[in-house]
Amino acid sequence: MCFTCQKIKTDAGCLIQFIRVTRCAKRHQCSFCGYTTSRPANMKKHIRLHTGERPFQCTICVKSFNEKAHLNSHMITSLGRTSFQMPNV
Ligand SMILES: [Zn+2]
Ligand SMILES: [Zn+2]
Repeated sequence: MCFTCQKIKTDAGCLIQFIRVTRCAKRHQCSFCGYTTSRPANMKKHIRLHTGERPFQCTICVKSFNEKAHLNSHMITSLGRTSFQMPNV
């Protein structure tokens, strides 16, 4: 059964086309491990696992994070900890 033409086919060419179509639906493929996703945001996040890129940097300390959610939770804990400890300037 070919999902592209909805016909029962043994034709190899038709099956190859079907494989291409399904791959096309998941446009974003990781060049490192072959992970695929249809959402570009997911791919950006995934690529960082390989590159180690951490674009979200804390403004209080030097720590940086690969996900904004991680930075946010870090900021909350950092602020909670430092708000009552003003540095002696
Ligand atoms: Zn990958
Ligand atoms: Zn910090």
